[in-house]
Amino acid sequence: MAKETKLYDCIIVGGGPAGLGAALYTSRDRFKTLILEKFMPGGQISTTDRIENYPGFASIDGPGLIEKLQKQAESFGAQIKTGSEVTSLVKLGDGNIEVSCDKDIYITRSVILAPGSDYRKLGVPGETEFRSAGAGVSYCGTCDAPFFKDKEVVAVGGGNTALEETLHLSKFASKVTLIHRRDEFRATRVLTEELLQKANEPDSNLIIKYDTIATAIQGKDRVESVKLKNVKSGQEEDYRCDGVFIFVGMVPNTGFLKGFVDLTDNGFIKCDCAYLRTKVPGVFVAGDCRVGAAMQLATAVGDGVVAAMMLKQYFRDPNWWNEKVSDILQPGGW
Ligand code: NAP
Repeated sequence: MAKETKLYDCIIVGGGPAGLGAALYTSRDRFKTLILEKFMPGGQISTTDRIENYPGFASIDGPGLIEKLQKQAESFGAQIKTGSEVTSLVKLGDGNIEVSCDKDIYITRSVILAPGSDYRKLGVPGETEFRSAGAGVSYCGTCDAPFFKDKEVVAVGGGNTALEETLHLSKFASKVTLIHRRDEFRATRVLTEELLQKANEPDSNLIIKYDTIATAIQGKDRVESVKLKNVKSGQEEDYRCDGVFIFVGMVPNTGFLKGFVDLTDNGFIKCDCAYLRTKVPGVFVAGDCRVGAAMQLATAVGDGVVAAMMLKQYFRDPNWWNEKVSDILQPGGW
């Protein structure tokens, strides 16, 4: 294992939109910044073929946007090491933090955790094969609903995301069928009532199928139908649709952080949602892996910027870490 002796000002764990957004700001502040990225920069949007909800771009592909974010951060001196999976972090007695990857160890004054999260998969045949809005499987209605204008789609899930996204989809698609594996939604009552009201309207384009699971997503070049099964009766049917939206939760990439920062039962990193401080002084969090994240590309980038701004405040006054959000009037005086 090689141990680097130089001290970084900031190590960013994860080279997705949150990490690259943070790196732009820390490197422009002339802080020695290193991004450690498990695979290639990009995260979830690396596989997104069209993005229409990132401000400033009418339409851009995921890899194209990532390339721009990466080049911009690198132009100010941020370094990116790909193929570097962080396996553990330790707070040292002198206040610095030791960050270990498979082969290397780094020392830094601060860390921004931005490992992201991934959509929970159904794990059924066809899900991976058709994974792209173009082929018909999507995990983000907010991103991809306009591509299904006047088409028929199936949505899967019963939580807040599933219901919000189903309502959103119903503004674009000609027919939305929401399937849920139980006969009761996990989502809040307000959302459930709104959905049921919409489904009960005369000529509604929204259909709900309870006690139903998808067992396969089918088609030739793109989605043409989904195989549905009623879990109570065992009855199966091939259900025609042009797309399948899967909203069955998120899985944050935070297993390696257990015992270092506090995690929720679902694995999201606990932080104060205003300044993105974790329980470990000098360790911030940004993006989808944190509690309360809006799970959007633009907000992930925004999180990275917030963490980078707050890092300056921590460098100015380490005791700021212990101040409660309610006691802080205007951190940094801006
Ligand atoms: P979630 O609350 O965990 O709901 C996941 C849903 O997917 C559940 O209905 C679950 O069914 C179902 N599910 C899980 N695995 C499945 C599988 N293999 N096959 C079929 N169905 C499956 O996830 P979420 O809706 O993404 O929300 C995540 C968190 O963000 C939650 O805390 C949520 O409250 C919050 N959120 C809040 C808002 C808001 O306040 N407006 C909006 C979005 C999200 P079961 O119910 O049967 O387990």
